[in-house]
Amino acid sequence: ASSFWQPIMNLSNIFNNFINNIAYLERIFETLDEPATIADKPNAQDIGDITGEVKFDDVTFSYEQGKTVLEHISFDVKPGESVALVGPTGAGKSTVVSLLSRFYDLDSGKITIDGKDISQATLHSLRSQMGIMLQDSFIFSGTIYDNIRYGRLDATEEEIREAAKIVCADEFISEMKDGYMTEVNERGSKLSGGQKQLISFARTLLSDPKILVLDEATSSIDARTEKLLQQGLQRLLVGRTSFIIAHRLSTIKNCDKIMYIDNKGIAECGTHDQLIAKKGEYYKLYTAQHMDE
Ligand code: ADP
Repeated sequence: ASSFWQPIMNLSNIFNNFINNIAYLERIFETLDEPATIADKPNAQDIGDITGEVKFDDVTFSYEQGKTVLEHISFDVKPGESVALVGPTGAGKSTVVSLLSRFYDLDSGKITIDGKDISQATLHSLRSQMGIMLQDSFIFSGTIYDNIRYGRLDATEEEIREAAKIVCADEFISEMKDGYMTEVNERGSKLSGGQKQLISFARTLLSDPKILVLDEATSSIDARTEKLLQQGLQRLLVGRTSFIIAHRLSTIKNCDKIMYIDNKGIAECGTHDQLIAKKGEYYKLYTAQHMDE
C-alpha cells in the first residue's frame, strides 16, 4: 500500500488537509463495485470559509435502487455543536457522514453547510474544511513526528509538539525511547489502538478543520488511555462542528446532541438527559452498556 500512496504523500498543497481523508476514501472505494462518479458540477462554486452549520433537509438516499438506506431525514446542527450518532450496525450512521462529505449524491432532499447546497460546491473546498478520523486511525510508515505533520505539512516543530500536548498525546510519545522520532509502520504495530487515535487527534488538530467526523474505535482501551482520549477529544472539538459515530458512553454523554438511528431513520434525538428521561431505545442501550461496566 505504501507505494500506492507515495505519489499522493509527495503532493504538497492540495492534499494538506486531505490526508486525513485517505483511509476513509480507501474504505469507501473498497466497498464500491464501480469507481465513484462524484465530481464537481460544471458550475460548482468554492464553498468559502465555513462556520460549520449543517442541515439535512428531507434527505433520501439509497446505494442501490429500491433499497433505501435513509428516508426523509432532516436535522440541524449549529456551528461548533457535537453530535453523537448511535444505533444498531447497518442502520446508516456511516452513510450520514459519507453524504456530508459528498461521497455520494442524494436521491432527493438537500444537505447544506452554512446554507449552501453541498452538491453545488467544489469537492476540494468542501473536503479541505473537513477532518475525518477513522476507527483504524491511519498511520503512515515513518516517524510519529511526520505522522502528526501530515495534518499540515508546513507546521513547525513547535506547532507539532503543541498539537500533541493539547490532545494529550505528548506524554506517551515522550516516554518512548526515540520520542517523536520513533519509527512506526503502516499498521502502527508499536502503538496501541488508543495511541494511534491520539496521534490522529494531533494530526487533525494541526489541519484545523471546521467540521470533524470521528468513527470511534470499538477496541477495548485501558482506563488511563480512555481518560486521555476523552480529554484530548474534548479539546479537539472546541470550535468545530463534529459528528461522532460513538461507541463509548463517556463520549456520547459529553455530546451536545445524540441521534439514535435505526433502520427507519432518526428514531430519537436529544441530549443524554432528555433521551434517558424518554426511556426509549437510547435508554435501553445505555442501561445495557452501563451494566457491563
Ligand atoms: P452503520 O454505520 O450504521 O453501521 P452504514 O451506513 O454503514 O450503517 O450502512 C447502512 C446500510 O447501507 C447497510 O444496510 C449497509 O449494508 C448498506 N451499505 C453501506 N455501504 C454500502 C455501499 N457502499 N454499497 C451498498 N450498500 C452499502
